[in-house]
Amino acid sequence: MRIVVRNGPAHSLAELTEEEAAALRAWYGDSASSGEKAIALAVIRRAKVMNGWIECDCLTCQSQPLLAPIRQEHTYSLRRLTSMDRDPFRQKERPNHTSTCPFHVDKDATPALLDRRYHIRPLRKSDRSYIDALPALPDRLADVANHDINRSPERSDRPSKLGGILWRLLDDAGVNVVPPLQDDHDLTLRNQLSRLRASAKKLRVLRTWSFNALLSTWAADYWTPESRWQRLLETSRPDWPGTLRRTGFMLLFAKSVSAQAIMPASSSRPIDVLGKVRQPLRGDPARRGPYLCLLNVDFGDDDEGSVRAIQAYAQPVYNGDTLFPVESGFERDVSHLLFWLQASLLEGVPDLRIKITKPLFAAETPLGPCRPDFVLEAVYTDHRPATLIVEAFGMETEEYREAKDKTMPRIKHLGPIFSISPEDLVEANAQATARRLQDWVIGNARHG
Ligand SMILES: [Zn+2]
Repeated sequence: MRIVVRNGPAHSLAELTEEEAAALRAWYGDSASSGEKAIALAVIRRAKVMNGWIECDCLTCQSQPLLAPIRQEHTYSLRRLTSMDRDPFRQKERPNHTSTCPFHVDKDATPALLDRRYHIRPLRKSDRSYIDALPALPDRLADVANHDINRSPERSDRPSKLGGILWRLLDDAGVNVVPPLQDDHDLTLRNQLSRLRASAKKLRVLRTWSFNALLSTWAADYWTPESRWQRLLETSRPDWPGTLRRTGFMLLFAKSVSAQAIMPASSSRPIDVLGKVRQPLRGDPARRGPYLCLLNVDFGDDDEGSVRAIQAYAQPVYNGDTLFPVESGFERDVSHLLFWLQASLLEGVPDLRIKITKPLFAAETPLGPCRPDFVLEAVYTDHRPATLIVEAFGMETEEYREAKDKTMPRIKHLGPIFSISPEDLVEANAQATARRLQDWVIGNARHG
């Protein structure tokens, strides 16, 4: 490997030693010792100082894959400069690494970064109206594409700050609540986005700038410097204190996400994310989308460049009309059953009002905090409202199940529990499950 001139890789600036090259590969492949990590950091820092790129040597052909050193505050990392598009010319110019090289770009095959440990969400913090402008990248030497999620516990032992902002916004806007069908409401993407915007107006990033003013919900704005959003971000420049980096946000509905990119539904171009796309860890990754994504942008290391997506949180949602948050494909199936339940009971028992909530934050119980999967509030005529819990036991990891087992006694404090497993929703059982659920809800509501 060698350090080459940025944008002119034919010109070499420095050769790397075998040891340095091995350290870079080990770091990127997540198998580095702390000694190797220190060497990798020194190499990346050196390439950054020289304003060069690092050229890999894993191919036998003439042009080798390139890596750009990145500095983000105190974090150093490498960006793989392989061609993302199908342009054959660029592909020749920017070839992918050989498949055995740790830097090889496996298009969309790596999982997005998962919220692994944080199964139990925090209680909602007080209603302070300021939100963090730019969540810092967590490590000094950025953690890299990590194929084995069991090896990155330190990375996700706290919830993503962007995730926290997104949950707060969804919670404030009530997008995680489907009110009783007896009340008229309009579940369309446009309407849900305008509710989210109204909530974003009440959150501040700076004294003079609301979250809403720095937020775009239109993917094309990312590539349009003349867009109103980018012009506002430019206008905001003098209002940022020296300690904060100028930041903007995008809230986008996306059909799919990968480890480092978001595919907005309204655009054919993916948005590449410098850090990692985070999402909740539940169920089959292939069935998790679509998503509502919150990402934040800056303007390069010197604040003078073009918009650059830094981090993103991808919250799976039921669909693009409701934006109702779910945690997995299986929870989407359970939501579907609950929406059916609501509609069927409106017809069968018109005096029974059902409200469906997907809790985004933990609830307090005498035994400690817990977060049920779904909460139904059933009100039958003038009876007391009944709080009913629906738990989705999907194809979870052992670890998740253990965490869940621990919180089940707490959840029982909130109300009676109806458990649904994938087996209950297979074709042969779905109808019986639906009936059972109907009877259970009616019974509990009448005795409330
Ligand atoms: Zn390589």
